[in-house]
Amino acid sequence: MAMRLGVFGGTFDPIHNGHLMVAQECRDRLGMDRVLFVPARLPPHKQVRSLTAPHHRMAMVRLAIASNPGFEASSIELSRPGPSYSVDTLLQLRQHQPEDTDMFFIMGADSLNDLASWRDPAGLLANCKLVVVSRPGAPAVEPARLDCLYPGADERVIPLQVIGLDIASSDLRSRVAVGKTIRCQLPDDVIAYIESNKLYRKS
Ligand code: ATP
Ligand code: MG
Repeated sequence: MAMRLGVFGGTFDPIHNGHLMVAQECRDRLGMDRVLFVPARLPPHKQVRSLTAPHHRMAMVRLAIASNPGFEASSIELSRPGPSYSVDTLLQLRQHQPEDTDMFFIMGADSLNDLASWRDPAGLLANCKLVVVSRPGAPAVEPARLDCLYPGADERVIPLQVIGLDIASSDLRSRVAVGKTIRCQLPDDVIAYIESNKLYRKS
């Protein structure tokens, strides 16, 4: 049977249990062999704030997924210059997979709004199916709305209602900055890494 590969892009600044739950649910429910976490070096949509250095974000991803044999991390975007376009990543990943591999690009419902402004959405959807997972606070996914990208785009989208965890990296960063606890929202190893590297503290 063809390999089924999930590709989960994000800034992961830091990775949290919301991300992990999303990946686990996608893997279980859509029968993915593996989910690949792909931290973006320079996300096209997030140039407003300065991101934590890529090696820290990658280290936190590795710690978070270490115990899960179905999860893997990829540094493919970290070694590519320029903004991290998902379509480039998909095409590059595809070159290293058996030809009949089914690829699924995973994103949260809040990210879907950006899709029309993504580079080459048609090229992206030609190379993978798009799994759009529910996210607390984000409007439910209406694949029909995607038809405006190009006719038939909606057929490439799989909306997936997942166990909701209302956790966001931006909230975790502000909690650390004011000295609030972030316990139980992300793996302990990641919390320890944040502490020992003094990440997200007010400078
Ligand atoms: P930030 O607050 O900095 O934007 P974030 O928590 O949204 O961080 P990202 O790295 O931006 O994390 O997210 C990567 C992907 O995971 C995006 O597609 C996003 O929609 C999705 N995602 C993040 N957190 C959740 C969550 N709690 N539930 C569902 N999807 C999520
Ligand atoms: Mg986000």
